[in-house]
Amino acid sequence: MAGVYISWPFCAQKCTFCNFASGVQTRDLEVLYALALTAEIAAHEWAWNPETVYLGGGTPSSMRGETLASVLMGIPGSPWREATIEAAPGTITPEKIAEWKAAGINRVSLGVQSFVKSELARTGRRHDAGTVEREIGLLREFGISNINIDLIAGLPGQNEAAWRESLAWIKRLQPPHVSVYMFEVDEDSRLGQEILNGGVRYGAADMPDDAAIACFYEIAVDELARLGIARYEISNFASAGFESQHNMKYWTREPYVGFGADAHSFDGARRWQNIETARQYTARFHAGESLRANCEDAVPQEEKFFVGLRLMNGIELDESDWVRFGPALDRLFDLGMIEKCGGRVRLTARGVMVSNEVFEEFIAA
Ligand code: SF4
Repeated sequence: MAGVYISWPFCAQKCTFCNFASGVQTRDLEVLYALALTAEIAAHEWAWNPETVYLGGGTPSSMRGETLASVLMGIPGSPWREATIEAAPGTITPEKIAEWKAAGINRVSLGVQSFVKSELARTGRRHDAGTVEREIGLLREFGISNINIDLIAGLPGQNEAAWRESLAWIKRLQPPHVSVYMFEVDEDSRLGQEILNGGVRYGAADMPDDAAIACFYEIAVDELARLGIARYEISNFASAGFESQHNMKYWTREPYVGFGADAHSFDGARRWQNIETARQYTARFHAGESLRANCEDAVPQEEKFFVGLRLMNGIELDESDWVRFGPALDRLFDLGMIEKCGGRVRLTARGVMVSNEVFEEFIAA
């Protein structure tokens, strides 16, 4: 069953670590973008009814209620099995939750990133731990208990004690899903630029090193497991039954269609991506031009490895995989990066830590 992704690339601030094509934009652009997005959805010819919807960005929790309703109205298949909205803590009110529920939202993903005041202050985030606790209480009060919390391991100034403080908040709040991202230097973020080119404004001089970030990640794996929140994908952890149904489609290569700036789509045979920024997307739409930035054939056998191996239960290999990737597989088994488990092959704990290098073996082979 297929999924739908909707991009809302508007934010109240630009976080220092963020490398997405999102940020603070004018209200005029937001209005024109909403028109383009609604029209793109209306023009889509549905070959299937989606079972999951995911509103990401950006900060879709900042969407006006009527905009959200008109966007979701164009998606068939309601009520969806899972419909997620990404939310910035500090923006959730009873009125908003009521609007979300009326539009079909049943899961909320909170971009918390950290519960530590000093870390949050340096990223440009405006919330604190108390805000998150209050808003999770509100969501539960209004019947939304399927909640994810995003955390970043490796923020400027982070040390083990601070990282454990964030994990202690997870224990206190008991969300059924947690995503843990290890910070990666990227020239598209202001912090990444500062790390690469020097400067002191965003905390580049105060970054934990790679070994410390790996250690924070391992601590999270252990602590979350103790809470019954098990790792099922490299960056994703869930209580039984709360794995993200939408995101699973990416890793099991089921089809999905994306709408809005920078949205990706996959129809089982081809992958394509919309033009990256809200400004370009809106301009192209209103000029009657194509919204696509690129389109290419999928490479199923390679993708089976570099997408499927992200899942902790791994993948099943067939004869053709051994014919194509035999030497790479033997090398990775010998290095202790992958292992057999039942009839499947999966990353080892060591392989998870260098997963990008493992995946390269299947891109280059
Ligand atoms: S991290 Fe999220 S809220 Fe911050 S700028 Fe990026 S998309 Fe916006």
